[in-house]
Amino acid sequence: MKKYNFNSGPSILPQEVLQQASEAVLDFNGIGLSLLEIGHRTQWFLDVLSEAQSLVKELMQLNDDYDVLFLQGGATMQFMQVPMNLLGSNDTAAYADNGIWGKKAIEEAKYFGNVDVVASTKDKNHSYIQKNFSVQPDAKYFHYTSNNTVEGTQWHFVPNVDVPLVVDMSSDIFSRPFDYAKHDLIYAGAQKNAGAAGVTLVVVKKDILGKTGRKIPPILDYQKHIEADALLNTPPVFAVYVSLLTLRWIKKEGGLIEMEKRAKARADLFYAALDTLQIFKPLVEKEDRSLMNATFTIEDKDIENKFLEECKQHGMVGVKGHRSVGGLRVSMYNAMPLSSVQAIVDLMEDFDKSERG
Ligand SMILES: *Cc1c(COP(=O)(O)O)cnc(C)c1O
Repeated sequence: MKKYNFNSGPSILPQEVLQQASEAVLDFNGIGLSLLEIGHRTQWFLDVLSEAQSLVKELMQLNDDYDVLFLQGGATMQFMQVPMNLLGSNDTAAYADNGIWGKKAIEEAKYFGNVDVVASTKDKNHSYIQKNFSVQPDAKYFHYTSNNTVEGTQWHFVPNVDVPLVVDMSSDIFSRPFDYAKHDLIYAGAQKNAGAAGVTLVVVKKDILGKTGRKIPPILDYQKHIEADALLNTPPVFAVYVSLLTLRWIKKEGGLIEMEKRAKARADLFYAALDTLQIFKPLVEKEDRSLMNATFTIEDKDIENKFLEECKQHGMVGVKGHRSVGGLRVSMYNAMPLSSVQAIVDLMEDFDKSERG
C-alpha cells in the first residue's frame, strides 16, 4: 500500500512525475538510451535545460533581467555562495533570523562580510514572523527565509525594504503567487516542492552581480555559470529532469494560483482540526502559520509517542518534528492530495477522543 507521505524533505512528488522519471531512466523519450546515459551537451539535454529554465521564468513571471541556474550543494551551499557573490568584505548585509535555516545563513555570511541581524524571533522560539523592523539603506541586501520548514512559520507578505531582496524559498517555492520580481535572488533546494535532491534552483537578477571586488573561484561564481549558459560543468542531469517534470505538472494543473488554492484547502482543514482538538497544541501564531509545514505538539511525551506509533500503524510517515525542536510536524507540499490531510485529521480526531476517554 502507498504510504501517506508527510515528510518535510525530500518529500512527496506527483505520482505522474515519478512514473515519467522512472520511464526516462530506462528509455529517454524513446531514443534508445537512458536519461542517465546521455551527455549534458547533447541536444536532448539542452532541450530539457532550456524548457526548465523557461518554465521557471514563466511561473515566476520574470523577464530577461533574470537568469535561471541549476546548481549543486543544496540550499546550504547558497548560504555561503550568496554572500561570496554579493557581499564585499567591508560591506554589510541584513538578515532575518527566523529559525534554524536563517541562522545557518547568517553564520555563513559572516565569513564574507558584516552581518546585521535586523529581525529576530528568537525571543519566542521562532513562533511568529516579525512585522516591524528596518534595514540600513547601505545594506547590500536583505536575506530572509520565506517559509521556515522546521518551525512552521511563513512570511505572508513581501518585506518592505529599500535594499535588494534575497530569499531562501526552499520549502514554499511554486506554492503560491508571489512577487518574485521584487526579489534580486531567489534560491531553493529542489527536494521539498520542486523535484528531487541533488539540484538547487538559483534565480538571479544579473545586475546585482560582479560588485564585491572579490576573486571568486569560477565554480562558485554565478556570473561564470551564466556566461557558460548554465553548463559550466556537468549539471545533475537526472535531478534537473525531475524538476522539469514537476514544473510541467504545476503548469498543467493550473499554475501557482491553483497551487495556492490547494495549499489553503489543506491548511484550512488541518489547522481547523488542530485548533479544535484539545490534546494537540499548535506551536506558532495563527497569522504566521505555514501553509506547507504545520508544527504542533502533545504536552505529554508518552502520549505524543503513542500518537506517532498510531501514525505508523496507519501508514503515515514523516510526522515526527525536526530533531532540533521536537514535537510533531505535518508537511503538506504541492503534490499532497486533500484526502491525505483528511486521513490524518480523522486519525487525530479518533486519538483525541480515545485519550480523553
Ligand atoms: C531544507 C532547507 C534547507 C537546506 O537544504 P539542503 O538542500 O539540505 O542544503 C535550507 N533552507 C530551507 C528553508 C530548508 O527548508
